Amino acid sequence: MRGTQLEIRPQALRHNAALARRLAGAVPVYAMVKANAYGHGLALAVQAMAPEVDGFGVALLEEAEALLTLQPQAKVLLLEGCFDQQEWLRANELGLAVVLRSPEQLEDLLAVPLAQPMELWLKVDTGMHRLGLPPEQVPAVLKQLAQQPAVQVRGLMSHLACADENNHPLTAAQIATMQSLAQAVALPYSIANSAALMRYPHALGALVRPGIMLYGASPLAEQQAAELGIAVTQQLSAPVIALTKVPAGETVGYGAGWLAERDSVVAVVALGYGDGYPRCAPAGTPVAISGVRTQLVGRVSMDMLTVNVTDMPWVQVGHRVEFWGDTVSATEVAEACGTISYELFCQVTERPKRVVKEG
Ligand SMILES: *Cc1c(COP(=O)(O)O)cnc(C)c1O
Repeated sequence: MRGTQLEIRPQALRHNAALARRLAGAVPVYAMVKANAYGHGLALAVQAMAPEVDGFGVALLEEAEALLTLQPQAKVLLLEGCFDQQEWLRANELGLAVVLRSPEQLEDLLAVPLAQPMELWLKVDTGMHRLGLPPEQVPAVLKQLAQQPAVQVRGLMSHLACADENNHPLTAAQIATMQSLAQAVALPYSIANSAALMRYPHALGALVRPGIMLYGASPLAEQQAAELGIAVTQQLSAPVIALTKVPAGETVGYGAGWLAERDSVVAVVALGYGDGYPRCAPAGTPVAISGVRTQLVGRVSMDMLTVNVTDMPWVQVGHRVEFWGDTVSATEVAEACGTISYELFCQVTERPKRVVKEG
């Protein structure tokens, strides 16, 4: 057995959901579980978090179907809405709450015969300029929606572009736009992702949508997960499969990418980009062995990579190397690669063995 594994911790997911619950006070909490619960596994994540949250958010209708198979009573919010008339009908059948974000979606929705009431959230572009209706179109769209009596508009929704950054002026502007629009049309609103849930208690609105904080990573650029009381929910690790001596002046790996400036020892570890570890991780990216930090050397290959253990003479073949988890945070690795923890979590392939750690 190769021994490469992704350990998932349901109790940590539950802990983080409880943290979101406490921060939200009386405001309903919808846990974002799109993309297989940020790579943690939908079934496991939903089961772990269900006691602490009011509902779940998914991006696609297929994800909503999978979720309802697991938890038929769950409240589900479809974040990107429906892509055609068939999807509106199916979403209605399933009892989903749906986001409406475009004139094309409005046209489809007005054309289908809904069999039962449908909760709708109107997505507004408050400044991220990705999806959503311009604020000035909202009153007219609300008027048109009145033609579809099965539709119950639950509120306005928007997404923040820069909430991870402390005091970014765009965040304040987006929140102000949302709050004044919501007041003008007398509807509740939802704008808070994980970062906003932690930073802006005055802007929680009628529903909060935490994602990354549930999955063990800090949503705030300036603070670590542990400082925020967020528990580690996954650990990616693999064993050392060889120890290789590298004389001073010799190189390691493809492209002769790393030069040993002194006589060195590298541990070859059974994890590569075929497992979802980023190939772009440069020499110097942190890893840990038995809680002691060291660094990648050379290029990440498909099935293996190399780690500097020159000053760790106690390391042996079979020792487990942590790539992110208790000692090295996914955020640190992401920063070394110029990405974010979200992408690392979503990129782990089917290859590492999933190990569920209870307790
Ligand atoms: C994914 C998502 C979130 C969660 O964002 P985090 O930064 O992971 O907390 C919230 N709202 C919407 C619309 C999303 O798509």
